[in-house]
Amino acid sequence: MNELESKTETDCLFCRWIREGRHVQTYGSAAAFKDGYPVTDGHLLVVPLRHAQNWFAMTDSELRDADALIRRLAEKIRKADPSVSGFNIGTNIGESAGQTVFHAHIHLIPRRDGDADNPRGGIRGVIDGKRCY
Ligand code: AMP
Ligand code: ZN
Repeated sequence: MNELESKTETDCLFCRWIREGRHVQTYGSAAAFKDGYPVTDGHLLVVPLRHAQNWFAMTDSELRDADALIRRLAEKIRKADPSVSGFNIGTNIGESAGQTVFHAHIHLIPRRDGDADNPRGGIRGVIDGKRCY
């Protein structure tokens, strides 16, 4: 385990956001926050209220709550903004997979026609040059 992955509640960005009540919505053990560096307008992060390192460390009940919250948020976003025509949902697990904040979080990224030159392949883009096939 590297230095970043051993972070605890006391120095964790998302635990701080939870303590400060910065959430836009909660459901049971899950909370949603606006991403500080959104990749599209409306990009949200759904996190467990408990400090868990990553998605695999979340309990079944936390995963169910996060899933229910994602569904509710997506519905709300779609209703509020008819230009939203798709979503990317994903989580980075471990530094090698791109995780930078070591409190589990699921990205909910609203997508709109034309927001990327060629969206084909979506999350396949995690490896440079491999998105299109
Ligand atoms: P990940 O790279 O999957 O660990 O995602 C971490 C997310 O947290 C990224 O989408 C960042 O935009 C967001 N983030 C990281 N640091 C900050 C910060 N200081 N303020 C706001 N958002 C942040
Ligand atoms: Zn935390």
